[in-house]
Amino acid sequence: MSHLIDVSNDLFINTYSRFPAIMVEGKGCRLKDTEGKEYLDFVAGIAVCSLGHCHPVVTEAICRQVANLVHVSNLYHTMPQMELAGMLVDHSFADKIFLANSGAEANEAAIKLARKHGGETCYEIISLEGSFHGRTLATVAATGQPKFHKGFEPMPAGFIHAPFNDLEALEELVTNRTCAILVEPLQGEGGIRPLDLEYIQGLRSLCDQHSILLIFDEIQVAMGRTGTLFAYEQYRIRPDILTTAKALGNGMPIGAMLTTNKVAASFQPGDHGSTFGGNPVACAAANAVLKTLISPGFLDQVRERGDYLHKQLKSVTDQYSRLADGVRGRGLIQGIVLSEVSIPLASKIVNNLFEMGILVTLAGNGTVIRCTPPLTVSTGEIDALSAILEEIFSNL
Ligand SMILES: *Cc1c(COP(=O)(O)O)cnc(C)c1O
Repeated sequence: MSHLIDVSNDLFINTYSRFPAIMVEGKGCRLKDTEGKEYLDFVAGIAVCSLGHCHPVVTEAICRQVANLVHVSNLYHTMPQMELAGMLVDHSFADKIFLANSGAEANEAAIKLARKHGGETCYEIISLEGSFHGRTLATVAATGQPKFHKGFEPMPAGFIHAPFNDLEALEELVTNRTCAILVEPLQGEGGIRPLDLEYIQGLRSLCDQHSILLIFDEIQVAMGRTGTLFAYEQYRIRPDILTTAKALGNGMPIGAMLTTNKVAASFQPGDHGSTFGGNPVACAAANAVLKTLISPGFLDQVRERGDYLHKQLKSVTDQYSRLADGVRGRGLIQGIVLSEVSIPLASKIVNNLFEMGILVTLAGNGTVIRCTPPLTVSTGEIDALSAILEEIFSNL
């Protein structure tokens, strides 16, 4: 296997530092590599495979669609696209949908729409420090972390960053050039950091007062991850634009931008587009995902399992308070906040977990261990994670 890993590393441009495993098979919360080693997956392809690997309903929907129609471009209408857009509209604030292939592309669409809506002199977008909005140049510019900008300057103009969760500081940055405020209701990559309820409600008022669009980047947290279909539902406000992607297709590449009739009217034919966006196969997968998420009781169970995951992780961090400051998150996106003592050991902890067959990721510049299991994770699987984590902590 190590030979094949060397081959792989030789073939690819060195943009990823990968774990030494070649994954071949997945079922539910479990992955298997070429050596037959099994892993309990608390990554889920970075909060993507929310129904678990190869969920039968999704697999069936993909296979059925592949046999009928794979691609026609957006020159024509297709039924899977229409069904998906209809469901997204029925279950959100939105009236209109744009379909893309990824998170960054959904955000690009949102940035372009906000600028078009703002008009020629009103183009600035304020986003938050610690945010992550994607890897294309505009979404990198929107990302509020200098490490993602470094080496790629000059950044596209018109992106401004405000301190996290500080309404007064943000208000000072609003000018007559501001067209939108872009936030993740809960920062994922930035370290599982939720914005306060009062802050988000304050943002909504601020945007209304100045006729600025409020954009929610829910690429990581929508589709039930936080216990509601969309995270914004928990704040009793509506954004003007929302982007989602990761879990929408349970692994099929798809992204979506949701907005209102009023805002959508700023785009005319030719203003934006995508060859693959809303591909019938990706849409068929997303339709199966959405139907499952909105089926009775599904999200209740996500909230219940989320509470259980939080409680089990907290019992470990309480016991090892020298190593961890606590647990942060909502629903089934939970992060173990490492202490000053354990931050230098973060990679070691994650690698130990990997060796013992548990997959997790780091977030917040290596200060937080992020757990984003499939939403179908069982209490037994959560117990397995906390038991192994406890064993690793006890040896540090
Ligand atoms: C992952 C992510 C993106 C980028 O999505 P890609 O599909 O990798 O382009 C943007 N915003 C947030 C909040 C994300 O978590």
